Amino acid sequence: MYWEPEIEQLPSTRLQQLQLERLRKTIDRAGRSPFYRQQFAAAGVASGKLQHIDDIRSLPFTTKDDLRNHFPYGFLTVPKDGPVRLHCSSGTTGNPTVIFHDQHDLASWANLVARSLYCAGVRPTDVFQNICGYGLFTGGLGFQYGAEHLGALVIPAAAGNSRRQIKLMQDFGTTAVHTIPSYLLRLHNVFTELGLDPRRDTDLRMFVIGAEPHSEGQRRRIEELFGVSAYNSYGLSEMNGPGVAFECREQNGLHIWEDCFVVEIIDPETLQPLPDGEQGELVLTTLDRQAMPLLRYRTRDLTRILPEPCPCGRTHRRLDRISGRSDDMLILKGCNIFPMQIEKVLMRFAEVGSDYLIVVENCNGSDEMQIQVEVQKEWFTGNMEALENLSRKISHAVRDEILVTPAIRLVEPGSLPKSEGKAVRVQDLRKPQESV
Ligand code: ADP
Ligand code: ZN
Repeated sequence: MYWEPEIEQLPSTRLQQLQLERLRKTIDRAGRSPFYRQQFAAAGVASGKLQHIDDIRSLPFTTKDDLRNHFPYGFLTVPKDGPVRLHCSSGTTGNPTVIFHDQHDLASWANLVARSLYCAGVRPTDVFQNICGYGLFTGGLGFQYGAEHLGALVIPAAAGNSRRQIKLMQDFGTTAVHTIPSYLLRLHNVFTELGLDPRRDTDLRMFVIGAEPHSEGQRRRIEELFGVSAYNSYGLSEMNGPGVAFECREQNGLHIWEDCFVVEIIDPETLQPLPDGEQGELVLTTLDRQAMPLLRYRTRDLTRILPEPCPCGRTHRRLDRISGRSDDMLILKGCNIFPMQIEKVLMRFAEVGSDYLIVVENCNGSDEMQIQVEVQKEWFTGNMEALENLSRKISHAVRDEILVTPAIRLVEPGSLPKSEGKAVRVQDLRKPQESV
């Protein structure tokens, strides 16, 4: 049932004691890095001043800009030749940042990924196909070493080439897959093109999906298409990568491993802590990292802590599904809009296909939104009236959710641009375009 029963079921008071001990050590260690040495001196930080884990609130935050401004070595607590590996973030929202790991950090990370996979139901008997970028992106090596540590047979399939992915699944009897959710919808189209049905023609029994925001509706759609359960996996390269928070078999919130991370939710405007249950920005502190610890790192991801205990018996608290990044928020005609609100609505329509793109532009002084929506093949017929009706229905449903009426452009399946990695859901033509 559990990978590490003593830790996963540790009563919360003991968990907090462990956190305090580890936080003190982390502060002492972090103080050896040029960035924190200076920050601690300016803010009067000393590990001995902390009496309770909540005293973490007296520490300053660390931001993505801090990481960028002190790129590449400013956060290292060891000499440059100390670490054994580096990873970078995907750079979805700007320049990438770098994280260094020593041997201890890599072992601790692999264990957290193994614990996470086990928690979702992966077992040593599984054939685990890892469909995501290997290299600087943390999903590749992160799941590779974690699933190996668990004892599964791991296929390092990497990203792309859907026909080959399907062949690998069939040749080796893949039972579990990790990939990004947007890819699974496309992969299903390839199964169909090949005249295959994954429910009949594979041994798949579960998916681990993460690395990008997705709605509950998208998860259910994936589960129905493939006839398997899909578990949500959350991580970010600044906190190693995968293995930060993971769903258990309950599929209701993601357990965040509190022996290795301190979790806080803050109001992103006032920076004040918010109580469990309230939605805000997730702030994380590493508790078991040596080469490059991070304290009170502002993830910019928006979520809340689910306060109720989980029926699975794990005491580590759960995060709600990530509703978006604070920098994904679109402001249009005075309304704050998150792409996930739109996805939630789109997923209610059976006619909607695998991809969509939200385009925002300024036309003659007024901000307008167009949503390009791929339609399922069987609906994309020449019947203009039916398509117009569908556009109208989608537009009204989206307006009810976000209070802005979008123009809907229904497009053929497969016609929207595809990215190798995380799906790009928004094109904001009001901003100067970054060349990627
Ligand atoms: P980048 O920030 O450049 O995308 P990362 O590869 O480190 O770099 O991605 C981490 C980010 O991906 C998280 O901060 C979060 O915004 C997003 N993310 C990861 N897992 C999930 C998930 N399960 N649900 C929603 N968003 C996720
Ligand atoms: Zn649980």
